Amino acid sequence: MTDLIVGIDLGTTNSEIAAFVNGKVEVLGPEAAKMLPSCVGFSPAGTLLVGREARHQQLLYPNLTIRSIKRKMGSTEPVKLGDKQFTPQEISSLILRQRVQWAEQAFHQPIRRAVITVPAYFSDAQRNATREAGELAGLEVVRILNEPTAASLAYGFGDAAHHTAMVYDLGGGTFDVSIVSVEGDVTEVLASHGNNQLGGDDFDNLLLERLEREFQNKHGINLQDGHPVALVRLWWAAEEAKKKLSFEPYVRVREEALVSQNGKPLHLDVELSREEYEEMIRPLIESTFDSVSKALQDARKGPSDIDAILLVGGSTRTPLISRRLRELTTLEPRQDIHPDLCVALGSGVLASRLAGHGVERVLVDVCPFSFGPSYLGERGGLPYPHCYHPIIYRNTPLPVTRTESYATAHPYQTSVRIEIYQGEEDDALKNILVGDFRVEGLRPMEEPNEVLCRMSLDIDGILRVTAIEKETGKSKQITIARALREKSPAEIAAARERMKALYASHSATGLHFNEGELASDDADEARERVATAHPDAGAADLPQALEIVKEASDLVEQSQRLLGTLHEEDRQEAIDLHEKINAAIRSNDAGALKKATGDLRELLFFVEGH
Ligand code: AMP
Repeated sequence: MTDLIVGIDLGTTNSEIAAFVNGKVEVLGPEAAKMLPSCVGFSPAGTLLVGREARHQQLLYPNLTIRSIKRKMGSTEPVKLGDKQFTPQEISSLILRQRVQWAEQAFHQPIRRAVITVPAYFSDAQRNATREAGELAGLEVVRILNEPTAASLAYGFGDAAHHTAMVYDLGGGTFDVSIVSVEGDVTEVLASHGNNQLGGDDFDNLLLERLEREFQNKHGINLQDGHPVALVRLWWAAEEAKKKLSFEPYVRVREEALVSQNGKPLHLDVELSREEYEEMIRPLIESTFDSVSKALQDARKGPSDIDAILLVGGSTRTPLISRRLRELTTLEPRQDIHPDLCVALGSGVLASRLAGHGVERVLVDVCPFSFGPSYLGERGGLPYPHCYHPIIYRNTPLPVTRTESYATAHPYQTSVRIEIYQGEEDDALKNILVGDFRVEGLRPMEEPNEVLCRMSLDIDGILRVTAIEKETGKSKQITIARALREKSPAEIAAARERMKALYASHSATGLHFNEGELASDDADEARERVATAHPDAGAADLPQALEIVKEASDLVEQSQRLLGTLHEEDRQEAIDLHEKINAAIRSNDAGALKKATGDLRELLFFVEGH
């Protein structure tokens, strides 16, 4: 029998147990049961419930159920459960015991020793209470480990190099951010800030209120007045909707027969958009950045001192969080290790090392490149048909499915070409084209038509891309095999050649990214559009006209860089020409665009030549 030490994340919302299995650190249990809700209760018949069953009854029997006991750790106030009283340590020990029993079944041996994680801000009293909870569960607590340190261990930062990482942890009920310095085996939490009353539960509540309002507006019934079962159903639906909105731009909430009135069942059927949801939660997310600034200040660090941002906690899957962190720091936040399991895995890394296994880090399957479509957006203030923005980001754990929304670029556009690229550059032409297809038969509409692009990538590197006209559900799919294979230089060259040919045959694609637009390419329709706007620019001129837009964009970008070095007169002329080019593109005036571009080319030739 080997010395077995487990790592346990005793979380506010969920708890997990990790150990060294088959040569690597793993969270124990089948996928659906890896996370145990940190909930304890008694059924009305008096049966002790730990985990999912306790959570299920929580809204119906709040007096018989306890959640978020972690918030009470360290306090001496007794916790009431029905007519019984417990200490917070006793409740936590029930959760720990359940996890350990799980592991004992998996290993067919008793487990006596554990590493347990706590938030960096826990006081001595809270740490001691956690240790005591472990002992009550029959464990020797070999280490109490700070959660952000656990996260950095999971990511393998315990090597010789020096790292400063920001661990941004947003779970179900708490938020904290820590600045961690790692040097070899020594990990130090330099500063930690947070809000122990903020988390994904608040997002659920906002969505729940939204659903309640919807139901009241439709049926005139306030579910708060005597409809507890309907509220429980809506609460679950709100959380499910929230989770889906992390990967989809829209979600449909459909709850049949929520209540009945005069014998008639009343339903809820509503579509929510990510955009609307993000506006609801934005103030809460923004408030977390105050803590980020305070933590950086306390650690005497600036954003540029940070080497990595590690996302921890289930709620960090909310895309608004990575987007805002990216904007604030210019770093790509990392979430390659399952954010709910990261702390448990880190505690498992330490536990395994203490048990004598040479573990460096947690191994996960991630996508090594970003993938996304090109779209019509802006570069250097000018329309550019080959903008690129990933849908699947590099380092995303596999398998993954994500969808983004785009809009057609032109009125009455009935087809779009979807070009899928692999790479990290925001200019699609600098990435590798991995596939393209055309969706025809869209409804001709004057306003932009919404087209969803769904990308699914599995562990075998099979990438499925589906374009869906949102209103009708009409869709088309392509499958790109071996998307994860590193391309050889010859393949990259061939892909670029193919792209050039594609580009020459139809310069503009056809969609605009949702905030702007996804680049379109109804070549016939675009040809018509240019021809109508400029009767002298014949249909055959279209590829050329679009080439000029690209050239104009490049020239404007180039001359903007030079503006500071130009004589006053030349500078003024360059600015005038930028405006002329802009105006020509906006009014679709190919003749004026050609003339202004020619003038700018000449001016640049002149100033660069002298
Ligand atoms: P944790 O405390 O780390 O286990 O995080 C639990 C919280 O993460 C709960 O509020 C969950 O609803 C939330 N969560 C889980 N998955 C997602 C997701 N896909 N998008 C947004 N929040 C999620």
